[in-house]
Amino acid sequence: MQTFDVIIVGGGMVGASLALALSQSGIPTALVDQQTLQASCLSENDPWQPRVSALTEASIKLFKYLNAWEGMIAQRVCPYSHMVVWDGEGTGEIKFDADSLPQKSLGYIVENDVIRHGLLQQLAESGVQCFGEQSHLDYKLSGQGGEVVLSSGEVLSAPLLVAADGANSRLRQMSGIPSDQKDYSHHALVTTVETELSHHNTARQVFLDTGPLAFLPLQDQGERHYCSIVWSLLPAEADRIECLNDEAFCSELQRAFEGRAGTILKADRRLRFPLRQRHARQYHRQGVVLVGDAAHTIHPLAGQGVNLGLMDVAVLTEELTRAVKRGDDFSAAHILDRYQRRRRVHNLSVMAAMTGFQNLFGANNLGIRWVRNTGLKLANQLPLIKEMIVQQAAGISGDIPDFMR
Ligand SMILES: Cc1cc2nc3c(=O)[nH]c(=O)nc-3n(C[C@H](O)[C@H](O)[C@H](O)COP(=O)(O)OP(=O)(O)OC[C@H]3O[C@@H](n4cnc5c(N)ncnc54)[C@H](O)[C@@H]3O)c2cc1C
Repeated sequence: MQTFDVIIVGGGMVGASLALALSQSGIPTALVDQQTLQASCLSENDPWQPRVSALTEASIKLFKYLNAWEGMIAQRVCPYSHMVVWDGEGTGEIKFDADSLPQKSLGYIVENDVIRHGLLQQLAESGVQCFGEQSHLDYKLSGQGGEVVLSSGEVLSAPLLVAADGANSRLRQMSGIPSDQKDYSHHALVTTVETELSHHNTARQVFLDTGPLAFLPLQDQGERHYCSIVWSLLPAEADRIECLNDEAFCSELQRAFEGRAGTILKADRRLRFPLRQRHARQYHRQGVVLVGDAAHTIHPLAGQGVNLGLMDVAVLTEELTRAVKRGDDFSAAHILDRYQRRRRVHNLSVMAAMTGFQNLFGANNLGIRWVRNTGLKLANQLPLIKEMIVQQAAGISGDIPDFMR
């Protein structure tokens, strides 16, 4: 049996970040995943990966602190310095730009594989012991952490187990932590498209009757322009659009986006995700603690999911590190309570905002439509309000550790 202070189950963007952060604090950590944990970075000429994330300034600061950002830039990332959101059923529109910000960008669009491989590259040079390609894992929970049995039968043990194994977390279920769930009644179609017109480093989103449609900018390849799209649709509409041939799909997409990207020249394969809000009622129990999608999932309309998970990482790292420095038992309930208190309120408030947005833009009521059109136009003329929204969306103004600020 090998003994560690912390075992993290799940080496996605959140679990891999936590493993790096804990290793920087000198906490003996193991990382386990059913997928490979070997980095194989993307190069400029590789095909686009369909899953991307809009990263906030706070998340980028975390990656810089983990020395992983350089490795991501060396693959490919796309900064966006403008953002436009408009009401597809009216004339309301709001624009943001980064001119007033010191970093000159509102955030970056990065393929999830680029993020993960940038982190795995750093992990290979850290003290974290990685156990990838574990097709069959077993857990023996002891009431204070427990054991993870690998496919080979080898046993790892720790007083603190972290569930970073995603939305359907098996470790969360095994630890008996209940999760509240709500169907958003939307399915997201995700793909990469080549567009006639340049995106000018602008993230764009239109709110349609059927749900929001986002065009997220990707790095130009020579004179060719690309965007990643997230098209949230009612399930029946998603059925119809998913089955269209490429030509019909591109023309329907072009129409839905009001031709703002010019002709949609080409679309890659489409992926589909039913969207659910999930929120664990507790973030820890008997030495098992939840981070990222294992604790919460939200509608992708504001691109906050992984950014919230990375805030979990930063706050949990801060609490565990403080406890270790004090010589306290870092896996004790009162330490994990502090993490839960700091993160649960914030995650809940972002979830409530997403539900509010969805209700506001999903409403057919004429009065509500008038309010949202007028509200968007009005807010667009108030620089202070816009600055507050940008600060909030950048994630640098909340209860987070200094290294993320
Ligand atoms: C359409 C869409 C668009 C999105 N866009 C954005 C965006 O723009 N910005 C943003 O911030 N967020 C976005 N999100 C949310 C974001 O993708 C998630 O929040 C993020 O992927 C969660 O990361 P994670 O590491 O917690 O979980 P995951 O990415 O699910 O990783 C879980 C890891 O655990 C491993 N695992 C799972 N089960 C087991 C097991 N039993 N044993 C061992 N290992 C296991 C998996 O192999 C994986 O490596 C979007 C989500 C969707 C659906």
